[in-house]
Parts: sequence; C-alpha cells; structure tokens
Amino acid sequence: MCHDFLFDATFWQDLSKLDQFAAEQVRKEGCPHCGARLHSARYPRKPRGVNRSVLGEQYECRFSYCCEKDGCRKRCTPPSVRFLGRKVYLGVVITLICALEQGLTPRRKAHLIDELDLWPQTFARWQQWWREHVPGTRHWQSLRARLLPGSGAEPLPDALLRQLTADDLAGRVSRFLQLMMPLTSASCSRSVRLDQFPQKM
Ligand SMILES: [Zn+2]
Repeated sequence: MCHDFLFDATFWQDLSKLDQFAAEQVRKEGCPHCGARLHSARYPRKPRGVNRSVLGEQYECRFSYCCEKDGCRKRCTPPSVRFLGRKVYLGVVITLICALEQGLTPRRKAHLIDELDLWPQTFARWQQWWREHVPGTRHWQSLRARLLPGSGAEPLPDALLRQLTADDLAGRVSRFLQLMMPLTSASCSRSVRLDQFPQKM
C-alpha cells in the first residue's frame, strides 16, 4: 500500500474542511444539554508524526465549544476526522499504521515507525485500542451490522478499511475516519451529516 498522501498538504487540508463542516453543524444546533448558544473554545493541539509544514496551522487546534449559559457552561467537542479523542497522533496515522501492520515486513514496519517518530509502546497501545476497545462500542457494533454483515472477528481497522471503496487509499482512509467520527468525542454524541458536505472528497 502506498502512503505518499501522508506528505500531501491537500489531503490534510481536505480533512480539515470536513472537521470545519462538522463543527459548524454542531455549533448551529446549540448546546446539546440546554440549547443555548455555543462559543468557540478550541483545544490547542500538537500532533506528532507528520511535519507541521505539511499539516498547516489548522492542525494546531481542535474545534471545541463551550455553552454560554450560566449554570450549564458545558463543553461540546464536535466529532473529528482528524483527532481521535485525546491521542497525540492523528487518526490517519493511527488507522494506517495499524492497518498496514499485517502486510508489512518487519524491516518496512520499523522504517515506518521511525519515519512517523513513533514509540513501539504507543503502537502496541493503538493495536490494543482497535482490537479491544473499539469492537465493544455500540457505534462499531451497529456499523458492523450495516457494513460487514456476517463477518467474523476480523481485526480492525483492516476489516472495514478493506470493505470501503474509493479512488485510492487516501480516499478509503478518509471515508473510514468519517465512519469512525462518533468514537472521537465523549462530550458531543450528536451525529453530523457529512453527506451534505459541499465539496467532493
Ligand atoms: Zn448548555
């Protein structure tokens, strides 16, 4: 599999636009607890593994909101195709390297881990996350019933990534992360409609 798109600024910008689109939908609907207006309260982020010059400064924060109403003031962090919860590495990297794992020679894998500035322990934790945490979530169970009916215990992320169709691997990874969005936020379970995204990804 070719992962050259990791070094393509356009790929990363497109993901940013999707996040922006999702965040705007969440903002328009207001606080999920009381319906009051939401104010921007972005989280600063320092994603690792991909060069800042490729990512651009948009990757230095994650969209997040705070309810304006006294007595509520709750946080609402929209789901994201870029950030998987609080993980320091971007969702693309976490998905790709775990999916590639089975097809990689030990030498190639070591090279990629090095290239992404990744600790082997971190990599092991991600695998555990995909294999033990995600399959137990309600979101994944409903997704599996819809997209992979009758499938066994094939490991994630491979099982789903293989099933998706797009022009290239970059497109499949992007689609995969769109499907995984509900897992990326604990404070905002509101679903977003990316099928209304105005640009073709
Ligand atoms: Zn509120």
